[in-house]
Amino acid sequence: MDQNCIFCRIVAGTIPSIKLCEDDETLAFMDINPVHDGHCLVIPKAHFPTVFVLPPAAFAAVGRVAIRLAKAVDAAVRPDGLNLVQANGPGAGQSVPHFHLHILPRRMNDGLAASWAPKPGDPARIAELAERIRSYL
Ligand code: AMP
Ligand code: ZN
Repeated sequence: MDQNCIFCRIVAGTIPSIKLCEDDETLAFMDINPVHDGHCLVIPKAHFPTVFVLPPAAFAAVGRVAIRLAKAVDAAVRPDGLNLVQANGPGAGQSVPHFHLHILPRRMNDGLAASWAPKPGDPARIAELAERIRSYL
């Protein structure tokens, strides 16, 4: 646990999040600045800043959840496609230094390149989408 890490604080419950599912090793929750409806994140509960220091078992645990969650998001929001995106370091666009995998629904011709501009999310809309996604988990 890193006291200065926002995702560690989400795991600890000291700052709020809209949770989708969790187990002993992982937590999945809605992204607060979604690129598209259904955008969410999977993290290991333990603090590993990047893939460079991530134990394979932690990646495997995140991967197992990602497969389940990708199917749930696909069923809940019916996107035209879906990216699994993961950034390591500022040059790759990583803004939170706690390993996380984006479950990123896509739309045809949505203009997204390898990066995007976060926009403020509507909390009620995010909560509603979380409810829909959970129903498919
Ligand atoms: P990255 O730029 O790959 O490091 O992605 C970090 C992601 O974390 C961004 O999509 C943010 O919108 C998201 N994020 C940051 N703070 C929070 C938070 N408190 N709750 C949920 N998502 C967050
Ligand atoms: Zn952390």
